[in-house]
Amino acid sequence: MAANGARTIAVIGGGIAGLSAAYRLRELAEAKRRPIAIEVYEADRRLGGALETVRRGDLIIETGADSILTEKPAGIKLAERLGIAGELVPTREQFRKTFVVHRGRLVELPEGFALLAPARIGPVIRSPLFSPLGKLRMALEPLIPRRRATDDESLAGFVRRRFGDEVLTRVAQPLAGGIYTADPERLSIGATLPRFVAMEREHGSVIRGLRAAGRARESATRGSSGARWSLFVSFRTGVSRIVETLAARLDDSLRMGRAVASIVPDAGDGPARWRLRFAGGGETSADAIVCATPAFAAAAALAESNPALSAKLAAITYASAAVVNFAWRAGDFPVAPAGFGFVVPAAERRRIIAGSFSSLKYPGRAPGGTILVRAFIGGALNRELMALSDAEMVAAARDEFRDLLGVTAEPSLTLVRRWRDAMPQYEVGHLDRVAEIERMASEIPGLELAGAYLRGVGIPDCIASGERAAEAIDSFLGN
Ligand SMILES: Cc1cc2nc3c(=O)[nH]c(=O)nc-3n(C[C@H](O)[C@H](O)[C@H](O)COP(=O)(O)OP(=O)(O)OC[C@H]3O[C@@H](n4cnc5c(N)ncnc54)[C@H](O)[C@@H]3O)c2cc1C
Repeated sequence: MAANGARTIAVIGGGIAGLSAAYRLRELAEAKRRPIAIEVYEADRRLGGALETVRRGDLIIETGADSILTEKPAGIKLAERLGIAGELVPTREQFRKTFVVHRGRLVELPEGFALLAPARIGPVIRSPLFSPLGKLRMALEPLIPRRRATDDESLAGFVRRRFGDEVLTRVAQPLAGGIYTADPERLSIGATLPRFVAMEREHGSVIRGLRAAGRARESATRGSSGARWSLFVSFRTGVSRIVETLAARLDDSLRMGRAVASIVPDAGDGPARWRLRFAGGGETSADAIVCATPAFAAAAALAESNPALSAKLAAITYASAAVVNFAWRAGDFPVAPAGFGFVVPAAERRRIIAGSFSSLKYPGRAPGGTILVRAFIGGALNRELMALSDAEMVAAARDEFRDLLGVTAEPSLTLVRRWRDAMPQYEVGHLDRVAEIERMASEIPGLELAGAYLRGVGIPDCIASGERAAEAIDSFLGN
């Protein structure tokens, strides 16, 4: 308890989940006029975790996450509460196209392809991305009987069963696997794309389910002025705007460069329930804790006080990736790029897993005549590439851009950012694992977990996770 009688809540981790938790705690305390002291302990010297915008001259460079999905409302709602929703920018619709590398060329993803399934067969039939047999197999999907078993399945198993191997290797692996930087043979379909499982269950077919969803969307928007936001948005000055705004509101709560090494129940006589020990020495106490670190850091911190929960947390594995940003002159591209980006199937055996044209995707990212590009390296299927030096990564990405897009010129900017153990892997059975983690954590009063390893890796999921944890702590503190 703080000197003024306010109770102390420690938020461990200053990524988007931890910052959202801290801000929600502050909102709730203000609404109830409850005096509380919030302390956010962040191991790094920088806040934001996987969100990092670097601004250099006229360039707005995203080294990590770059887009906020609007279908899940938590991101937009937080921006509205922070008063920065007016700074949200939509994607540039004229470039809404995704390409897939196929036999060394960029081929446009057929219109209406939703991550792992086509909503319409017509564009697929015309696409050079699939063989005649592959197209036939895909068209037969509505006739494939629904799966009776209800246990979890891998993304690869699901796609192969419903659509055949070509859709898996040419589209679902690089697109869906790419989002999670995961091996689709291990990735849980139930934890990542449950709506496709529901479509099979409810409509007997994913294609029928997608059509029904399309009709429902149409009738919902008929009569209205259409969707308010594009599917993805960012902020005018980059995705870190939300981190900077949260940081400004939480300024007096931020404790940077403080890695929490262990969380143990407080054995002292005082009212505080928890002691936090810092890596490198020192400790503090708190009445309640939101632990918003990656699972492995939460596992380490809880190893002493709760070995069983710690072991469950430690079982969640992570993948690493690197993002290399380049700036080129538009004229350096023999053919002007015209899309958000492209994905690279593992079967193509290249050293990048995706490329995106940041300045085509969002407005204001680069001055006219400059194209800002991101190349993604690594992930669960290419772990060995993380051993490359920065110079080797740059060379590898440039080789691929030369080969695929014909760009030979020196880039005017090169920026390598490594994301070590940054992507939790939602392996088959993930939801059961998380339910067990949540059950075990619920037996520990005054401790809540939050973060990307639980029920969604996206920015809105992480915001919702932090806010849920804050609300649970608020209830724990009572009135
Ligand atoms: C390259 C990349 C691109 C992505 N692109 C997108 C995208 O476009 N859209 C999207 O929605 N999502 C995207 N994601 C996913 C999303 O950004 C992350 O899942 C999300 O930001 C994770 O937030 P978090 O707060 O749970 O964890 P993190 O961002 O990992 O934050 C955890 C924080 O805890 C700190 N920490 C760790 N251990 C300790 C300790 N012991 N004590 C104190 N602090 C500690 C860390 O330093 C870190 O700051 C991307 C992720 C990556 C890596």
